Amino acid sequence: MATQYLCKACRGVLNVKTSIVLSAAKVNSSKKGLIYFNPELGNYSVTTHPSFRMEAGEEYTITCPICHSHLNSLKYDHLVRIIMIDDEGKEFDIYFSDIVGEKCTYKISDGYVEKMGPDATRYDKYFDVPEEDRKYL
Ligand SMILES: [Zn+2]
Repeated sequence: MATQYLCKACRGVLNVKTSIVLSAAKVNSSKKGLIYFNPELGNYSVTTHPSFRMEAGEEYTITCPICHSHLNSLKYDHLVRIIMIDDEGKEFDIYFSDIVGEKCTYKISDGYVEKMGPDATRYDKYFDVPEEDRKYL
């Protein structure tokens, strides 16, 4: 089974063909559209329609295109959570930033945190990993 990404609310599958499809609305703005994310963790290339241009530093509310639930984390400000099921059926929480241009991804299962991206230290405070364990990340 190939890796799947699910909505944390309805568990609908968010990846279609070669992208994860999410709906985005800019905070305090009427600007909104669909985003195609690369399903490869740590790859931050995104695709949007030319009429929907996201600028670095903008913050977005991310919603499930299936059930319209907000996917922004209530626990961790500025992070969005979706679920990943890997090819062995193991489930992970995936967090990424809701701010355009911030390249950080956190893959979490059973308290084990795998951090990816050049901005991964930005939200270290949320994922307090002891220094001696960092070499394993
Ligand atoms: Zn959903």
